[in-house]
Order: sequence, then C-alpha cells, then structure tokens
Amino acid sequence: MPSSLPEILDQLNADMRADDNWGAVASYIPELGSIDPAQFAIAVATADGDLYSAGDADTLFSVQSITKVFTLAIALGRAGDHLWKRVGREPSGRAFNSIVQLEAEAGRPRNPFINAGAIVVTDEILTGRAPRETLGEIMQFVRTAAGDDDIHINENVAASENAHGHRNYALAHFLASAGNLNNPPDQTLGTYFHHCAIEMTAKQLAMSGRFLIDSPNAPRMILPARIRRLNALMLTCGHYDGSGDFAYRVGLPAKSGVGGGILAIVPKVASIAVWSPGLNRYGNSRKGTEAMARLARVMEWSVF
Ligand code: GLN
Repeated sequence: MPSSLPEILDQLNADMRADDNWGAVASYIPELGSIDPAQFAIAVATADGDLYSAGDADTLFSVQSITKVFTLAIALGRAGDHLWKRVGREPSGRAFNSIVQLEAEAGRPRNPFINAGAIVVTDEILTGRAPRETLGEIMQFVRTAAGDDDIHINENVAASENAHGHRNYALAHFLASAGNLNNPPDQTLGTYFHHCAIEMTAKQLAMSGRFLIDSPNAPRMILPARIRRLNALMLTCGHYDGSGDFAYRVGLPAKSGVGGGILAIVPKVASIAVWSPGLNRYGNSRKGTEAMARLARVMEWSVF
C-alpha cells in the first residue's frame, strides 16, 4: 500500500493503464470524436495550493459541462435566489440532454447541471450583456479561480458543437416557447457552447476547483454558505442520471463533462481533477469515476 499522496497517484495511474477497457469518447461533438480514449490524468490541489499529479496531467482537454459549476457560481452571484424561479434543484434521473421532462414540467429545468438548466444559467448571465462580455466574465472567473491566465476557449470545439447542436437548439427553443429564455436562442447557445469549449489540463482544473474547498487558505470567490450549496448540487445532480451511483461509489461532490473530465471537492481539504476521455453509459468518464472511487477509498475522503 503506497503511503504518500504522490505514490498513491502514481499507483492509480499505473492501475488505470493496466486495464484496456477505456470506454467510448463522445462523438456527437465531432471535434471530440477523434480523441484517443487511452489517456488518463489525475491531479490533486490542496487547500494551501500544493499540487500533485500523475499521468497525462499537462494535456489539454475540453472541460465541457464542468464549466457549469463556474457559470452557476456567477449566476447566483448575480441573481441570488431569484435564479431558482427559472431552474430547480432536484436530480433529474434522466440523461444530460433529455427533453421530455422539460415539457412535462412547463419549461423549468430540473437542475442547473442538465443541459436545459445550464442553458438557463448562461441566459441569466448573458442578460443585459453582449456574448463577448459574458464570455470575458466567465474566463476571468475561471482564470482567477485557477490562478492561471493561460486558460482558453477552443474555437473549433465550440464551432463543431454549434454545427451539430440540434438537441441543444431544441431545448433552447422550448425554453423560449415557455417564456424561460431572455435572449435569442442562438445568442444564449453561442455563449453556452463557447464556455463548454474551455480547455484545461488536469492540473489547471484541480487548481480551478480550490474556490469550492471552503478553506481560508483557498481563493475566496463566493460566500461560504454558497460554496456549501454548490457542493450539495454537485453531489445530487453533478453526474446526471449517474449521480446516485457516483455518490455511492465516491462520496464526494463532483461535476463531470463529456470531454471525460471530473472535478471533485473534498470540503476543507482538496480539489481533485481526473481526466480520461472514454465515457460510461451515463456520459461520465469511465476510468475517471473508477480512479475517483479508489482515491477516495485509499485517502478515506468522503463527505459522509
Ligand atoms: N456542451 C455539451 C452539451 O451541451 C456539454 C454536455 C456535457 O458535458 N455533459 O451537450
């Protein structure tokens, strides 16, 4: 049994590479479809800012839905509890891009992490601003959180998703028809696709999550009460219809993205990023979930 965190991460990296069942990469965004699934990275940033990593931790990947944590933090800072009139706080029990529930529930998405809910959150931030200005604000938030100005949007990924984003267009138009979109669907979606196309390395992603650790030594970007609420939403809704399984196996608040990244928070202790682009049936990283489960077990990290 390895004893120190660097040794544990090296061992996890070796274990993940020993099994060649990597899962399948997301292909509905063509630009992501050509990525080699046989990659793995893990990084842990402590409350004090120490950083440990193993594997492909300097490789950039598309963080996708993980950006919904940042946009939600910004939207809550802007709208406060008024945001909850537009979007709920319950697990959806459905796929991230499901459309049926939205009609059954009169255009109020179940939670801010499924696509429909995240589109509403982006729309809230966009209201009263131009898309460019809004993206500038999101980038500034992410860069400040990570303490790193070298974080950018991959325009090819944003364009690729826009060109094939019929499902998200359907969601946005349905929201508009229900009176739950303030901006034209193409503007809200253009902003949404761009923030989803932010790229980071596992090291940068782990650092960017430190503002959610809730420690006096970590960046203070939002109120402590709001940090706890964001973590509650990550635990209950961060992995879509795989949220219950993730909570059972890992026991930490976390947010996944279809690029294969996962950001998990150990309150008061650390921010963890894993990346492996092959996905499980819920659209969450297959090896990333496995690695998180093992790390949490070895370190005895859990919110329970
Ligand atoms: N941009 C992606 C989409 O809207 C994000 C989905 C995800 O990461 N789960 O489909």
